Amino acid sequence: MLPDRYSTLSQDMAQLESIDALKKLAAQYPGKVIFSTSFSWEDQIIAHFILSEKIPVKIFTLDTGRLFEETYYVWSRTNEQYNASIEAYYPDKNLLEEFLTSKGPNSFYQSLENRKGCCYIRKVEPLQRALDGNEVWVTGLRAEHSPERTGLPQLEWDETNHILKYHPILNWTTEDVKNFVHENGIPYNTLHDKGFISIGCAPCTRAIREGEDFRAGRWWWENRETKECGLHSHS
Ligand code: SF4
Repeated sequence: MLPDRYSTLSQDMAQLESIDALKKLAAQYPGKVIFSTSFSWEDQIIAHFILSEKIPVKIFTLDTGRLFEETYYVWSRTNEQYNASIEAYYPDKNLLEEFLTSKGPNSFYQSLENRKGCCYIRKVEPLQRALDGNEVWVTGLRAEHSPERTGLPQLEWDETNHILKYHPILNWTTEDVKNFVHENGIPYNTLHDKGFISIGCAPCTRAIREGEDFRAGRWWWENRETKECGLHSHS
């Protein structure tokens, strides 16, 4: 639920295209708008908006240490193509060393508790550090990826992290995304060409088969209800 103090902003934003909305947020909250990228093609479109229009929004990524090689490649290509320096946040060294020493490297397959512990150390805690002190968190969420996102507003209040969230391409279809990436020469993760929809850590992401749900490629050994990593409340 968006607090009342944002209702005018929300109405103004609803009239704007994504790029102009990002510019408005950057002007309204100078130095306090931040975009998290995982280098999915949704995120690459938003990075393209920000970098090609030179919108003053900080771009960061959570390097969990377990990403695909293809993801590091597209990160590197993006820095080169746009002359950018995407900021990297890493897991806390002490937490990670302790966790891996006691549980081993692949404990996420053994229990939900271990999987959530791994996601907390590699994603949630670094995310909290990245968001700290900011006012707006821009994301590449799309409604098509999860039924829980049906009816989600583009501008919403994140009660967990106490921050405004803006989803510029929430209502784009997969076709819209693909076409925009190809038409604009945007570097993208080639795993998308191999059936990967939502690309996270390598051990916890697989391609989906025809007819499978978009989320089937993440934590496929778990029940649907538990499939979230703690970054968004409506995964
Ligand atoms: Fe760990 Fe898998 Fe979560 Fe990545 S997605 S942080 S490897 S449990």
